[in-house]
Amino acid sequence: MKMVALWLSGVMIASCAQFKAPSDPYRRISSLDAQYNPEDLQQEIRSKYQTIEFTTLSAYEALVQFDEHLDSRPGPLDENPHYAGLLAARAQIEELEHSILDLRDQLYEAGLNADLSIEERLKNIALLRITIPGAKSDLDALLFQHFHEDFISFTKRVLLDLGKVEDEAVKKSLEALYAELNAQFGPLQERKSLQLDWRVLTAKARQNLKENPDWVLARRNYQHLAHEMRADLVGSKQHKQSAPRFFPSAERAGNIVGTEFPAKVWSLTFDDGPGATTSKKVLANLEVHGLKATFFQLISKAKEHASVAKAIREAGMELASHSYTHRQTPKLSLEQRQWEIETAATDLADIHQRPMKFYRLPYGAGVSNGDIRTRIAKANMIHVFWSVDTLDWMAQAPSEIVERTLKQMKASRHDAGVILFHDIHERTVIASEEVMRYLKQDSRRVCTLEEIVSAVNRGSSPCPAN
Ligand SMILES: [Zn+2]
Repeated sequence: MKMVALWLSGVMIASCAQFKAPSDPYRRISSLDAQYNPEDLQQEIRSKYQTIEFTTLSAYEALVQFDEHLDSRPGPLDENPHYAGLLAARAQIEELEHSILDLRDQLYEAGLNADLSIEERLKNIALLRITIPGAKSDLDALLFQHFHEDFISFTKRVLLDLGKVEDEAVKKSLEALYAELNAQFGPLQERKSLQLDWRVLTAKARQNLKENPDWVLARRNYQHLAHEMRADLVGSKQHKQSAPRFFPSAERAGNIVGTEFPAKVWSLTFDDGPGATTSKKVLANLEVHGLKATFFQLISKAKEHASVAKAIREAGMELASHSYTHRQTPKLSLEQRQWEIETAATDLADIHQRPMKFYRLPYGAGVSNGDIRTRIAKANMIHVFWSVDTLDWMAQAPSEIVERTLKQMKASRHDAGVILFHDIHERTVIASEEVMRYLKQDSRRVCTLEEIVSAVNRGSSPCPAN
């Protein structure tokens, strides 16, 4: 218990910075419905995990096809028929993760709810165990990669609350849960570096799952969303733009893609951070190479990793908003959209003490939606899409990410564009450093979005060559 106490004190300090938004429109009533059947809940969570597994398989299938298409017909992202499927898979997986975590949080709070009987509370706490995936197969190991960071912070939270609960029975149960999580955590962590062969895995799965109705349903939902996202992507090009100029607008001028940049001008962007350890490594690489990048931050993460967010700001990097919680904006209520776009921008501006001028929709979803684009423009921000997608969110070797990125960069018309990375993965730290080296060759220029926008609007040349 000594080690637990030590860790606990560390967690106590860290948790003061933990963010809880009072007006979060997703927040549900904390205790579970008394009528809720725990077995149903268990089944619901398992089924969600299975759908994540199936959608992950579909994503890797699409990745193989995306790369093959890029090899045979290099061109813009929206001309690659497999790209929307990748956006859809990621959105689908994250949506399922959100709902699993929500169910788990409810169980957790129900476990601590003094209004329920001890028996009920223990039952709820015991159910928490099933929400942590065990790595029995290669696919499980992949799921674990997805949940890894969250798993650690959750375990810490369980531990933290051990110190608060006065009820001996609940306390004992929490201790047992913690011991079990900890025992499971060691072997899982060892499997984290596992390299998987996606061609073999997806071929095998296709063979085994052909007749499985859950697989058929998951595939159908995935394909439906891919279809929607493809329409959104293609729809975003409908507005014509004669002379390129950028300003907040629901039309073409309010959406930067990168294909319209002057020759040899590139913008490096990093989304979904700041990450606890990875962002500082990306920052160090940028400083070594003397480059500036734009960080599209999630507000919840910027508050959770406040010192990292500060370091990025103080290094003179460009900061932009990427919403509060990374949901698919077109699927949200109007109140939730407002929170993700307007409130997020104001709150992030408060954190960094500067207005947010650029916004990026999670998964790019809603880029051709009138209401969503009008909100972004009214909040005085320009939307920023991308022309090169590293697809670094999928588990793979850094060399694969670099190869795919350079192929897209070489296929760009003017050797110019916006590159999309995520500064929350170790593989991204390595891959983005290689891309930085490439960017510094052949008199390419790496500029911030603000530098590019003001130069393009003036008709002059942005930032000096690196
Ligand atoms: Zn994102």
